[in-house]
Amino acid sequence: MPEKVLLVATGNKGKLAEIKSILTGYRVLGAAEAGISFDAEETGTTFAENAAIKARELKKLTEYAVLADDSGLCVDALGGAPGVYSARYAGENATDDGNIDKLLEAIKDVPEECRGAQFKSVVCLIDEAGNEFFGEGVCSGRILTERKGSGGFGYDPVFYSNDFGESFGVLTHEQKNQISHRKRALADLLKKL
Ligand code: IMP
Repeated sequence: MPEKVLLVATGNKGKLAEIKSILTGYRVLGAAEAGISFDAEETGTTFAENAAIKARELKKLTEYAVLADDSGLCVDALGGAPGVYSARYAGENATDDGNIDKLLEAIKDVPEECRGAQFKSVVCLIDEAGNEFFGEGVCSGRILTERKGSGGFGYDPVFYSNDFGESFGVLTHEQKNQISHRKRALADLLKKL
């Protein structure tokens, strides 16, 4: 049976690479790889709302099934921030480094035992017929006081994973993909299809 095509509503290369490695049963393509120019304004206040917004926008442009992930880092000492604003924490055109610098500065006086944080992901799949399915995943850890490793993307170098006892920045792709919030969200989604 030919693989099912799934178009992903993201321009984030790190995220797309992870989704491709995790969803091996599908032919996963980023919207741009399918020749679709796509941009959705993330106006929601929850991961689920934003995942749905992105998936629905892309679905308007294709007959294929689509998938969107909305994810972010929720830091206990910041009342759950940056949360849905993780990508733009340091401003509209923020870089990963800029976001990390702002985060480290914001909690520089917070002791280790109070630096708990969770990566969260909600994925939304819309099948060819327009049916919507959601999955969610969480990965717990804490924020390091400085970067460790340069792997992954986003906040990975300052996120210490409780599951691995190590910074996401030093994990291999395979290690991160075993336990990440995105892996868990996609596993939760696949159970519902
Ligand atoms: P989104 O594209 O609005 O879902 O933004 C997700 C943002 O959350 C990314 O740009 C990163 O800053 C952060 N993020 C989400 N997942 C991860 C991850 O697995 N590692 C590091 N940062 C992540």
